[in-house]
Amino acid sequence: MRQDWLSFAQAAVPRYTSYPTAVQFHNGVAAAEASDWAGMVRPGKPISVYVHVPFCEQLCWYCGCHTSVPNGYERISRYVDFLHQEVDLWSRQLGAHGGVKHLHFGGGSPNALSASDFVGLVNHIEAAFTLRPDAEIAVEIDPRALTPERIAALAISGVSRASLGVQTLAPHVQKAINRVQPQEMIETTLEDLRKAGIGAINMDLMYGLPQQTVEDVVEAARFAASMGTDRVAVFGYAHVPWFAKHQRAIEAETLPGLVERFHQAEAVGATLMAAGYSAIGLDHFARPGDEMAVAAKAGRLRRNFQGYTTDPCETLIGLGQSSISAFHEGYVQNTKDRRAWEAAIASGALPSERGIDLVGEDRLHARAIEMLMCNLAVDAAAVCREMGVSEDRLDASLERARLLEAAGLCVIRGRQLEIPEEARALMRTVARCFDAYVPAEDDAPRHAKAV
Ligand code: SF4
Repeated sequence: MRQDWLSFAQAAVPRYTSYPTAVQFHNGVAAAEASDWAGMVRPGKPISVYVHVPFCEQLCWYCGCHTSVPNGYERISRYVDFLHQEVDLWSRQLGAHGGVKHLHFGGGSPNALSASDFVGLVNHIEAAFTLRPDAEIAVEIDPRALTPERIAALAISGVSRASLGVQTLAPHVQKAINRVQPQEMIETTLEDLRKAGIGAINMDLMYGLPQQTVEDVVEAARFAASMGTDRVAVFGYAHVPWFAKHQRAIEAETLPGLVERFHQAEAVGATLMAAGYSAIGLDHFARPGDEMAVAAKAGRLRRNFQGYTTDPCETLIGLGQSSISAFHEGYVQNTKDRRAWEAAIASGALPSERGIDLVGEDRLHARAIEMLMCNLAVDAAAVCREMGVSEDRLDASLERARLLEAAGLCVIRGRQLEIPEEARALMRTVARCFDAYVPAEDDAPRHAKAV
């Protein structure tokens, strides 16, 4: 990385999986808004559904997700019962939508659910919301907890895409993050999923982990490519122990420094691209012909709470503790507190606790940021026209970006802004110029570093 960019890479910036970001959510928007907005979903429009499963067999020290170890199945079983009730609550509120186009199970580990509970939940969602015939059902998988029964349950339920949490293959790093999973286990998992007819495979890899080296990340990237993985997501470890308490088990001194992190990110990308993958947005790679690579090329890539997606739906219903729902009118997040979540559902109310309504020019800024994060370029005048406002409404954002242009992070011609390939890793820094909620001088550590 260019030496003069190091200060940008160090700054804390949002991941922009939404705009406004979750930091701006507040309690003034909650269940009443969720209910109103669900009722206003446009007739015939497809929707997406996300189900959060906040359980794992064991905690990885790097994890920043909302999850816990249940100590027995009773807690999970109770959670599933409440999920069924939440499905019914939302389905009563929703307007005449056009069925579910994307159903995504995330966590935590969705394969913490028993085979019969998983099948039962998918069946209920299908009955309550109607799955479209072309629906994609995607599930995040922890290879350490995937039994043959669970694979059969995924297949019976019509799961078409599995995302495997791999992160690293290096034994010394696996030990340092409390996630030991031998390479053979991942190979067998992949083979079994494919045999069961689940052909679309994603893998998550990480860099910046304790004791991790460039050689370690290259080994993992080569492995992902050699296994014919369709999409690879590469995330930098974000050390935020003040937010994710179990990260306190990771000693800051064992983490690679900023320059080393950048070398690791660069090495993963170079390895995957040498193997034929295309770079997608900030942190994804896809094989040519994969739907995500095709969508990116055609300018149809989208960004939502799950990251990059080919899902064009405006409405996303989030089920389970901490899940976020998106509507044309704004976002709402379910409470993370188990008792509060259960109590709301038991009383017949949606468990939404906080959120934000999109006001003023939020949608304008959201669209510009999404375009930058997906395409590394934005035509500000075209975005203004699309939103029905005067072409100069994003001029202040372009003006903020001029400082970055002087540093080589972007190029501005008229009202068109482009991020050069070598500054791809710093796209969030450029996108931040279009964020009307963050004062330019605010670098408080509420977000992860840019690289
Ligand atoms: S990284 Fe995944 S498997 Fe590990 S604790 Fe977090 S959610 Fe669970």
